[in-house]
Amino acid sequence: MLFRSTQSNTTRVSYKEAILNGLPPEGGLYVLDSVMDMRQFFLYMDSETTFQELVSAISPVLLQGELNPLTAAVVAGNAFDFEPELQQLDEHYSILNLYNGPTGVFKDFGIAYIAALVEEFAPHDKKTMVLSAARGDTGVSIARAFDKKKNTISVILYPSGTIHGLDEAAFVEHGGNIIPIQIDGTFDDCQRLITEIMKDRDFVGRYNTTTANAINVGRLLPQTFYYLYAFIKVKKRLSGDLRFSVPCGNFGSLIAGLYAWKFGVPVSGFVAAMNANNAFANFFSGKTFTPKQRIATISPALDVCFPSNYERLASFYDEAPLVMRNMVFPQSIDDEATRNAMKEVWMKYNIMLDPHAAVAFAAAKKSAEIKGEEYHTVVLATAHPAKYAALVSETLGETVAIPEKLALLKKECEPTACIPPHIDTLESAIASCF
Ligand SMILES: *Cc1c(COP(=O)(O)O)cnc(C)c1O
Repeated sequence: MLFRSTQSNTTRVSYKEAILNGLPPEGGLYVLDSVMDMRQFFLYMDSETTFQELVSAISPVLLQGELNPLTAAVVAGNAFDFEPELQQLDEHYSILNLYNGPTGVFKDFGIAYIAALVEEFAPHDKKTMVLSAARGDTGVSIARAFDKKKNTISVILYPSGTIHGLDEAAFVEHGGNIIPIQIDGTFDDCQRLITEIMKDRDFVGRYNTTTANAINVGRLLPQTFYYLYAFIKVKKRLSGDLRFSVPCGNFGSLIAGLYAWKFGVPVSGFVAAMNANNAFANFFSGKTFTPKQRIATISPALDVCFPSNYERLASFYDEAPLVMRNMVFPQSIDDEATRNAMKEVWMKYNIMLDPHAAVAFAAAKKSAEIKGEEYHTVVLATAHPAKYAALVSETLGETVAIPEKLALLKKECEPTACIPPHIDTLESAIASCF
C-alpha cells in the first residue's frame, strides 16, 4: 500500500515513510494512492473474532512488505488492550462504543496504534523523538501510548493552562520516556513550533524527529479497523443495508470510514453528523466550501470551522463526485435536538450517550426520516458519557458513574519545563534527555 500527497501526484511513499515523515515534504496531506479489496480477508470473520485478531489479520495484508504477520500481531497486542463494543438497540440501530481506551475517547485507537508502529518502524540503534501538540486529554492518550515504547522519547507540547492526568513516573526525569513541555502560548503556537521544527532538517536529523499529530496517516488508518470490526459484529443480524453515522469535527473518522468502504465493507452510506457548525454541508452537496464563524455548542469536539482533513475529503470528491454524493449524507443537529436524542436513548434503551454520540444518533434518525428506515445504522459513540458527566446528568436527571481511570484524568501535574515557543529553547529543554 502506497501513499501520495494530496498536492502532488509524482512521489509515492510506504506507510513507514508516511508515518515517520508526518507530512509530505512537497506539501499537502498523505492519502492512500490506491486501495486494495480486502473482502477475502475479513468476510470469513464473524462475531467471535476479537479486535486484536482482526487487526493482526488485516494489517499485514494492508502493509505487505512492511509488516509481517508475526510483527503485525505483536504491534496489535502492544497497541490495544481495549476494544470497540457493539450494542444493538433494535432492528435499525446499533451503537459502536469507541470509548473503552485509556482516556475514554475514540482518539485512543489511532494514537495507540501509531505508537506501537513507531516503536516497530523507528531505527533500533538510536532514539526517535516523537513530537505532538496536545489539548484536552489527548496528551494523556499520547503519554499512555508511548509509555515504555522502546527507543522513543515522546515530547508533548501543551499550551498555557493547567496540565492534567499524566503519570509522573513515566517522565524522563523519573527514568521514563515522556517529556511534557508547556509552551507560553496557544495550541496553535504549539503546532506552529512543530511545523517549524519539522522543516529544520538539522534538528530533525539530530534528534531523529517525527510527529504523532492528528493528521498523521499513522493515526488515520487504524481507525478503519473499528469499521471492519463493527461490520463483522453486525453482519449476521443485518436486514437490509448498512450505514454508519459519524460525528464529524476534523472528519478523520469519516475518512477512515470511507477507506473501510473502499476496502470492501459493504456500506451503503455514511451520515456525516455535524452540530450547528455545519460549514461542510455545502461542500457535500457540491457547492464550494466557505468556512463560517465558530459557534460554541454542547458537543465541543465538533465545533470546527476549518477541518484539518479538508484536503483529504476533497480528494475523494475530486475522483468521483457523484458517487460521493450518494454515499455521504450531511446532517446538522442543534443543541436541543442533541439533548432530546440523549433523553430518547436513555428512556428507550437505558443507555447513556455523550453529546457527540447523541448528535450522531439524532442525525441518523433525521436522515432516516428522509430516506426511510430500510437499513441498519451503526452510530459511533466517540466519547464516554462520563467525559461530559455534568451535561449528561443535567439532561437526564441521573447521576453519571465516573470510572476510576477517567477520574484520574483530572489530577493536576507539572510539566518538565515551561518555555517560550522557540526552537532553541525547546532544544535546550530536551537536549539532556538524549
Ligand atoms: C475528536 C472528536 C470527534 C471528531 O472526530 P473527527 O475525526 O475529528 O471528525 C468526535 N467526537 C469526539 C468525542 C471527539 O473527541
